[in-house]
This record gives sequence, C-alpha cells and structure tokens, in this order.
Amino acid sequence: MKTDKIRVRFAPSPTGPLHIGGVRTALYNFLFARQHGGTMILRIEDTDQSRFVPGAEQYITESLRWCGLDFDESPEKGGPHAPYRQSERSDIYRTYIRQLIDAGHAYYAFDTETELEELRSQAKAGGKTFQYDQHTRKSLRNSTALPAEEVESYLASGAPYVIRVRIPENEPVTVHDLIRGEVTVNTQNLDDKVLFKSDGLPTYHLANVVDDYLMQITHVIRGEEWLPSAPLHVLLYRFFGWESIMPQFAHLPLILKPDGNGKLSKRDGDRLGFPVFPTAWKDPVSGELFSGYRESGYLPEAVINILAHLGWNPGMGTEQEFFTMEELISLFSLERVGKHGSKFDPEKARWFNHQYLQRLGDEELSQYLKPWFDQYGLDPDPGYIIRVTGMVRERSSLIPDLWANSWYFFMRPEQYDPQVYQKIWQPGTAALLQDILAETERLEEFTAETFHTLVQEYTSRTGVKMGQVMNPLRLLTVGSSQGPGMMDLAAILGKEEFTARIRAGLQKLA
Ligand code: GLU
Repeated sequence: MKTDKIRVRFAPSPTGPLHIGGVRTALYNFLFARQHGGTMILRIEDTDQSRFVPGAEQYITESLRWCGLDFDESPEKGGPHAPYRQSERSDIYRTYIRQLIDAGHAYYAFDTETELEELRSQAKAGGKTFQYDQHTRKSLRNSTALPAEEVESYLASGAPYVIRVRIPENEPVTVHDLIRGEVTVNTQNLDDKVLFKSDGLPTYHLANVVDDYLMQITHVIRGEEWLPSAPLHVLLYRFFGWESIMPQFAHLPLILKPDGNGKLSKRDGDRLGFPVFPTAWKDPVSGELFSGYRESGYLPEAVINILAHLGWNPGMGTEQEFFTMEELISLFSLERVGKHGSKFDPEKARWFNHQYLQRLGDEELSQYLKPWFDQYGLDPDPGYIIRVTGMVRERSSLIPDLWANSWYFFMRPEQYDPQVYQKIWQPGTAALLQDILAETERLEEFTAETFHTLVQEYTSRTGVKMGQVMNPLRLLTVGSSQGPGMMDLAAILGKEEFTARIRAGLQKLA
C-alpha cells in the first residue's frame, strides 16, 4: 500500500482549542508536504468520547485556516480515504483488532475499574506503581490467564471488556526518528496498553496506526509527547506485518515556558500576558475564556514566523528572520529541527508582529481600524484615516495599539486624566488658553507651521513658557499626555476641531 508520494497528516484530538504547539506541528507537516509536492491530511482523532469537546473540531479547522494552513484531504473536503473522523471509522478498527486477537497479539481483559484501582493503590502503598504488563497479566482477569471456557462465557454474557495489546517478552524495539536518531527500548518495560475500549471504539494507539497505514502516510511528524508511544506503534506495525512500509517518524521538540521551566501550558499564556492559542476560545463547559493571537492583534504571517523559528532554524549564516510561506516551504527541512525544547519568548513574538505591521502600507494598515469605527459609529474620511495611521504606526506592535494610539484623532476626549491635570494646570492656565484660542481663531491659514509661530510669538511676548501652553493644550485635545507632536496633532485635526476641543475642555474644566 506504499506510494512514493509524500503523505503527511495532522491528527488532532478535538479535546479543546489547539495550542500553538499543535499549530506548529500542523505548520511543519504543511511545509514538508508542500515542499515535496505531497499531500496534507487533516484527520480528527475523536475516539475518546469522554474527552470530546463540542466546537473543538470547528475551532481547529478555522484557526488553522486563519494561519494560512490548508489541507488536501479532510473531514470537510473529503478524499480517497474518507471518512477522516475516526469516530466514523469504528467498523474498520473492529476488523483490525480481530486480526490481532486471532494472531495472539491482543487479548480480552475483564478486570473492572474498581479492581484495577485497588491494585493501583496497593502498589502505591508499597511504594510501587501498578502496570498491566507481561509481569502481571497472568494474575489478572483476562483471556491469557483464564481458561478458555470462562473467557467464552464472559464474552457470551455480554460482560464489559477491553482489548489489550500483548507486549512480547524481552525484545528490543527501535524507533528510527528523523530528529532524534535511534531510540531503542526493551519490551520488558512496556505495558499492555488498551487498544479497544468497552464502548466499542479503539484507543488512540490502534486507530492511529491503522489509519496511518490505510491513509498511506509516509511521515509521522508530531510532538515529542508521543515519542514514548512510538515503540508500541512500531510493534503494532510489526504485528500487522506492515513494519517494512511503516511511516518514518519525526518527533518535534517541546515549546517551553519563557523561563525554560517545563512545557508551555494552556494556562501559561493568560497568566503571563500572551496568548497560547491561535484564536480566542471560550470553554463550553466552564465558560472560561482563553485569549488568541488573532483577537490580540497579531497578523497570521507573524504567528507563522514565530512558530517557524520555535524548533527549526534556517541554518548557519542565515541572517534572514522574516520568511514568507513560500520561502518557508522551500527552506524548511526536518534536519534543521533541533532536539531540544525552545523557549517561547513573548517579547520576540510582539517584536515579530511589530515588524509585520510596519511592512504594510499605510492604506492597508488603516483597514485594521475599521472594527473600532463600527463600534463607535464613526465614518472618517479614508484619506484622513490613512494619514493618521502613518503617524501612529511606528508606536504600534499589535493591532489594538493602532487604535489606542489614534482614537483621539477620531473622537473627542470625554475625560481628562486627573493626574496630568493636577500636575500641569495652574491658576493662569484657563486665561492663557483663552488667549491662544482667540488668536487661533483669527489665523487665516492653520498649519503646523503657522500655529507654531503663533505660540512662539505668544510665549516671547508674555514670558510664559512653551510647556505652560503645550501641556494643557494636549490635555484638552487628547485627554492625557500621550500623542505625537502637538503642532502636527493640531494641524491634522484642523482648526475647527482643534478649537472646538479647547472650548469644550475649558468649559468642562472651568
Ligand atoms: N491525536 C494525537 C494528538 O492529539 C495525534 C498524535 C499523532 O500525531 O500521532 O496529538
């Protein structure tokens, strides 16, 4: 069943939103497939009904689409190996588990959860861990230990059972990993994992191996957390007689917390102030909200670059930090994926996004302000929006920064920062601003230059300091002490709006 064409799959379980580690796995699969003119498959591994979360599959599909990753075969698109949702393939797995049982590689186990729990706590009390394996299986309630008639009667009675793999004794199993090299374990240390559950559905291990075989997957590129399962998978390929054509493995290193202490977890982001999910997610059960890159104002191009660099490096002597998807497709290689975990650097992530925002033209960037215009019912002149964008872009790293730095170009302040007011407002300030206001109204041509001259002449005539004029003017126009140069700000607002804000402010603060 082997074809020469590269076929890879991204195989998430819909147990919640997709962590950026998962997005990175999808990205590396995608780059690998596209580089080789291969096929990229989305397979939903949803055989664990107890962990199924409604909306998660849709989240996965949509968030990957936002990132610019698409699939050739998927539950949505279909394809020659449909269905691509494992819960719809249970008949297939039943056939294969039968094969394993018939060949003696799998067995029925009738132990109840209570019995197993008891064994676990007994072992724990003696400072040990209970494992269902070649050392213990003979003393447990399963078809390797019980007489055939008893097994028959159990099965006939409809008693619940699971099917476990029968791990052979004392054999070395080697996983050839494209990133890690050879990893060898002895089967003595492996447990008899459940392959088929009492609910009639397979576990991850069986479904994953059967599907990778049937879907003719050539490379399994997945997270390091699956490396411990790989020897079992190799054994399953061996039992089925598929070992010579099994996929090649590549286990990607972990993405670590910013301080390097352990894996970046789903709660780290909001705890430390950055997203760990591509798009925002609301947990359907707890209602808990998790922030996403999209909603936080990152561009997908930036996210892709952040993830591309978390594990892969473009190679010695490459100074380039920004890559288009096309460039990544042509440069990516599994040989350049490191073995060690990469620390997630939230500052660097922001920096990437800042750089990507700066690459957009003023007009394109200005489009990102639209949601706020809608929210406040504003309809500014497009030329004006573009000019404002040009003035604030340098100070903006995330899209909401654009609005935070520019809203006062579009709306009058309603409040005046009390701390700034305290600091700069003096007994003579109102009178002084009245003078400036009157002179400004008489100005025929209102530009940054003419207004500058006006203020300069006023200060030298009266002996008032420049700051005594500028600071309160800024407070009245912006509501705080932020914003670009006062003259530019006045000029871009225009005489009418500028003077209106001073009048309104004087009235409010009087
Ligand atoms: N369903 C597994 C997951 O959720 C897939 C692991 C694999 O790619 O084999 O990550």
